[in-house]
Amino acid sequence: MRAALAWREGARRVGDELELVRAERRLRELADAPGTRCAASLALARLRADAEPRRAYLDAAAALERDPDEPGCREEARALLASLDAHRPPLADGPGPSTMEPGDLPRAERECRVDRVAVFGTGPTGAPSRGLRLVLFPEGECALEGHADGERFVVRGLGLRVGEAVPAELPLSEGGARLLRRSDDGFDLWLDPGASATAFDLGSRFLVDVAADVSVDERAARAQGRVIVLDPGHGGDDFGARFVGLRESRLVLDITARAARILERRLPASQVVLTRTRDEIVSLEARTAHANAVGADLFVSVHLNAADEEVRVGGVTTFVLDVTNDRQALRLAARENAMPVSEVTGIQRLLARVHRADQVERSRRLAALVHESTLASGRRVLPGLPDRGVKSAMFYVLVGARMPAVLLEASFLTKSEEAAALRTEAYREALASGIAEGIVRYVTEVDASD
Ligand SMILES: [Zn+2]
Repeated sequence: MRAALAWREGARRVGDELELVRAERRLRELADAPGTRCAASLALARLRADAEPRRAYLDAAAALERDPDEPGCREEARALLASLDAHRPPLADGPGPSTMEPGDLPRAERECRVDRVAVFGTGPTGAPSRGLRLVLFPEGECALEGHADGERFVVRGLGLRVGEAVPAELPLSEGGARLLRRSDDGFDLWLDPGASATAFDLGSRFLVDVAADVSVDERAARAQGRVIVLDPGHGGDDFGARFVGLRESRLVLDITARAARILERRLPASQVVLTRTRDEIVSLEARTAHANAVGADLFVSVHLNAADEEVRVGGVTTFVLDVTNDRQALRLAARENAMPVSEVTGIQRLLARVHRADQVERSRRLAALVHESTLASGRRVLPGLPDRGVKSAMFYVLVGARMPAVLLEASFLTKSEEAAALRTEAYREALASGIAEGIVRYVTEVDASD
């Protein structure tokens, strides 16, 4: 605990944003671990006390409610709550502040509401679903938290009220969960035996990803062939980038469909799944949910880069999901996520804790192979195609993916020579065959090492 705080303080002093995020990731891990949960949660609450005092108050009250018996928790929490008392959220009714102890709080109707819930990854997929994603849309001053409790995964939050529009019970037939039930102060998700769940608090959305137990039989069947998910970015009314009559959404649909045809030929034992096959809207949270549900072995999201201002160099960039302090990558993620840059940096901090180092490594390998072969193949048609490299960024579409996942910006739509090339079938086919080649090389490598 103390080491993590010292680490963070050191990073803050020299202004190293990346180290700062890493140190906070460590604190968040401690805030999940029994024995340090309260202390680390309070440390995090203290860190946000200046910027978001009310949220800090709620977090401290939640820590006290959850782990009152952790040594030192009660005293430290009450001290922090007392120092933040001016930011105690108002109550709709109940005792006035004078009769209340710090932390006796706040169950006011207006604090936090969830009126909308979505479930992705169930339904007829042909094969049994290997996971599902529950998305809650919190409004107000919310500090939701999810944890396993026996065969349930429970979502709670101080002052959380669930709207009547949310069904009292939602039966689920597959994906590792069987029932979602609304309770007075949250949600209970009943899991199947062997299933597990993880929660991601993204502020405007709260995700719960369920992973079904994969039986031995299924594992054996999977060894036969890989499941590859290709994700054409955007779609429908969401055009993505646009440039003189060209739409990113349509171009990437064409490119991924071509890549899928090549992969089906080159890896006949594998199954290739597209997250959309038509020009239609698919939400960002549905895309990885789909990949998790079909038990994908890898996920490649295909986009085209764009910039409002004149850029000197266009070209190919490939991203993995990781924290970054690269300004351009942050701006691009904001564009692709359809959210302000400030929210991307917020997500970055929230997500730092759910990162798994081994998955970042495998994603980097997939990114390197897809990047290299897409660039080489694109250059056969457009010899000067620039190399922007493999980078990290917080792309929302990659969040929660349980397989190596990358996002490819296959060309720069707002560079006129690349836009002109994108109008030709030859160039789109070249990009598609480069993407497919990178995937084939990755799958071959993985098969050889299994
Ligand atoms: Zn895009």
